[in-house]
Amino acid sequence: MEKIYDTIIIGGGPAGLSAGLYAARSKMNTLIIEGVKFGGQVTSTYEIENYPGSIENCTGPSLSERIKKQAEEFGTKFSVDQIIDVNLEGDTKIIKGKKDSYEAKTVIICTGANPRLGGFKGELELRGKGVAYCATCDADFFTDLDVAVIGGGDSAVKEAIYLTKFAKHVTVIHRRDSLRASKSLQEKAFANSKISFIWNSVVEEAIGKDGLEKVLIKNKLTDESSELKVDGCFVFVGYDPVTQLFEGKLSLEKGYIVTDEDMRTSVSGVFAAGDVRKKSLRQVITATADGAIAATSAEHYIEEHS
Ligand code: NAP
Repeated sequence: MEKIYDTIIIGGGPAGLSAGLYAARSKMNTLIIEGVKFGGQVTSTYEIENYPGSIENCTGPSLSERIKKQAEEFGTKFSVDQIIDVNLEGDTKIIKGKKDSYEAKTVIICTGANPRLGGFKGELELRGKGVAYCATCDADFFTDLDVAVIGGGDSAVKEAIYLTKFAKHVTVIHRRDSLRASKSLQEKAFANSKISFIWNSVVEEAIGKDGLEKVLIKNKLTDESSELKVDGCFVFVGYDPVTQLFEGKLSLEKGYIVTDEDMRTSVSGVFAAGDVRKKSLRQVITATADGAIAATSAEHYIEEHS
């Protein structure tokens, strides 16, 4: 007979790993399936300075690695597979991957969210040739060069500050006249002499032959266009939830999975945790908390249904 797990967790970022830790520690037979590599989006974050207790040398990858080790020590199993279909109805949930098919009494969805595209001309053509979405991954390529950052949220401002460790100068291009980022990040950015701002403006085009050479910027108030010579353009304009697999199967709002405070989705025995669910604060701390709650709810669900 095929093995039926107590819970299968789809996604191995902080939410999934924490759900795995809590589930396995409660003696649930637990499998985490991750598509590419474990750790999730946080592994693209250089410094985690707002996760309680992470005072020094706490990077995204090191935090993920520690949670994974902890989950493993409690007995969580791991598998790398690309999930292509799910059947979430009924008592046994079926998760189909490219490599294998898996069954479980409960499912915890922790698929997170992907960086959103800027939507300007030339973006896709110059992606990887100057247009980038991850400062931790690509900052080094722009050592002593000029870069632009698009966006005004926490990601844009935080990564702009990080980029100043490498780049000669960082120009933040934001569509409004004030930042959405937290006040503490704003203060750091305004005090950094290597960062300047272009307000009320959007990038309309990325231009370059073999690599990015300049961006075409339009001021939304005056309609005036201007060019900015840059070697790199980092796009940080938010994230899209990874929920295509669940469309028509779970209740979604703007693509995010709707849950109650116990992480229960609209389908019995199916839970969601982390950035993939509808919530107001998407942080490592809220993702890990969601994961713990989801695993505990899954445990209660199994108790009630056995
Ligand atoms: P976000 O908070 O949604 O900010 C997206 C930014 O991009 C906003 O400034 C938005 O402008 C701008 N934008 C959106 N679409 C655009 C477009 N088409 N063209 C130009 N600009 C566009 O996203 P985020 O910064 O990625 O953060 C996501 C979540 O993670 C947030 O909850 C954030 O607090 C959290 N986070 C926290 C940290 C931390 O260190 N504490 C670090 C990273 C992320 P408007 O402001 O005009 O809407």
